[in-house]
Amino acid sequence: MDMPNPNPLILARKAKLIERLEAVLPPEAVIHDPSETRAYECDGLTAYKCPPLAVVLPASTQEVSDALRICHEMDVPVVPRGAGTSLAGGALPTEDSVILGVAKLTDVLETDYDNRFIRVQTGRTNLSVTGAVEEDGFFYAPDPSSQLACAIAGNIAMNSGGAHCLKYGVTTNNLLGVTMVMMDGTITQIGGAFLDAEGLDLLGLICGSEGQLGVVTEATLRILHKPEGARPVLMGFDSSEVAGQCVSDIIKVGVLPVAIEFMDRPCIRATENFAGAGYPDCEALLIVEVEGSDAEIDEQLETIIEIAQSHNPVALRQSSSDDESKRIWLGRKSAFGAMGKINDYMCLDGTIPVSQLPYVLKRIGELSQEFGLDVANVFHAGDGNMHPLILFNANEPGQLELCEDLGAEILKLCVEVGGCLTGEHGVGIEKRDLMLHQYDPADLEIQMAVKDVFDPGWLLNPAKVFPLQSSDARRIAAE
Ligand SMILES: Cc1cc2nc3c(=O)[nH]c(=O)nc-3n(C[C@H](O)[C@H](O)[C@H](O)COP(=O)(O)OP(=O)(O)OC[C@H]3O[C@@H](n4cnc5c(N)ncnc54)[C@H](O)[C@@H]3O)c2cc1C
Repeated sequence: MDMPNPNPLILARKAKLIERLEAVLPPEAVIHDPSETRAYECDGLTAYKCPPLAVVLPASTQEVSDALRICHEMDVPVVPRGAGTSLAGGALPTEDSVILGVAKLTDVLETDYDNRFIRVQTGRTNLSVTGAVEEDGFFYAPDPSSQLACAIAGNIAMNSGGAHCLKYGVTTNNLLGVTMVMMDGTITQIGGAFLDAEGLDLLGLICGSEGQLGVVTEATLRILHKPEGARPVLMGFDSSEVAGQCVSDIIKVGVLPVAIEFMDRPCIRATENFAGAGYPDCEALLIVEVEGSDAEIDEQLETIIEIAQSHNPVALRQSSSDDESKRIWLGRKSAFGAMGKINDYMCLDGTIPVSQLPYVLKRIGELSQEFGLDVANVFHAGDGNMHPLILFNANEPGQLELCEDLGAEILKLCVEVGGCLTGEHGVGIEKRDLMLHQYDPADLEIQMAVKDVFDPGWLLNPAKVFPLQSSDARRIAAE
């Protein structure tokens, strides 16, 4: 993965930059000692690291605006950062950029149950948004597996999803409005505490824009009444393809489970050793969860179980208590941690039409053999959002590059079957150079023209999302 060389003229301005930032921000909000900036050298994609020029941690929207205005005036690139859990390298700094972290912006600003929204500062973690309303019977639906740590800021920037997004949609379907600070320090409001703002859907543009257009400091989020009840069923199959076919058949018949999650044997084995959830010994398993009243749950599960039985499951277990439901979810929720304990891995994030699951799982198996690297699969199968985990040894020379090549082939496969490069993790640096497999140069030109409008100097989150050769002319002109 290539990154542009740092601009020596910007590096030479460091002392002046720090002096100006310290003049408007509290001393503890500006970090520039290399021993401290190192903590920000990577995000969840730890294969790539680079310490930033400096880090600023403002405590208000006004402070974000002040910091951005100074960076803008001094032509210094800025990388917005939430909690740094991106798996696409979205928050990776460059040597000549300032990390602007929103981790101190954690307040709940307003809760309105009559109109079902909550307004929060975006450094607040995803899980603590639900935490703020659950005693009153509400929840915030998008539930990334990283929800204990990741911030609403990153969720908006990456349009994050999660296991339960099959029914409730991803972040963009649950976001009503934002306060965003433009690169020149202008503070702007987009959307509001209502369903659909008039005019162009700018909110739809901001959600998923990966820190390319502005820094989001506040968000108005839709909250929902907690469902009456939920029940998962665990199904084991003797091949990944059969499990994939079962998912496709469930979706086809028209029932809408709240989640359909998939794990293959390598993942099942790792999570059993790690969490001991009591999963069956099989090639692939599905966790299918439905919600509603007992009667609604029974009716939906009857259809789902009938479909599963037509695929000769080797195990089929319906939860009969809250404890059993927790155990069924325990392994799935520990899957990433379990894999990380036994191997270095790179987590991919392609999306495919659900009907292509059996074929794509078979091809991933073949590609894994061709490249000589194991691949474990754990993913949101109901919406075709795949997360192949490529296992490699980061200490062995050449393995990272081999892993990147295999990852590229798998993501190209997702595009070939009618899917796309990312479902929920974003493009970042990880998929940046593959964008030309999904978009032709004219498409990319239009996407970059949008950035020209919001960030004419191309200072926000440099060298991400757009292939370097496509964005070269703009980035060089901006220097
Ligand atoms: C174990 C694990 C499991 C995960 N599971 C899921 C999952 O189930 N679903 C899912 O969708 N993702 C998942 N992720 C990925 C990650 O958690 C999400 O992408 C998350 O939304 C990132 O949030 P963050 O606050 O950590 O953002 P960061 O990593 O800090 O930043 C992510 C991107 O957002 C931009 N950004 C950050 N703050 C702002 C801001 N204030 N304004 C504008 N742009 C900003 C950054 O520049 C960067 O491009 C997982 C990650 C891990 C490590």
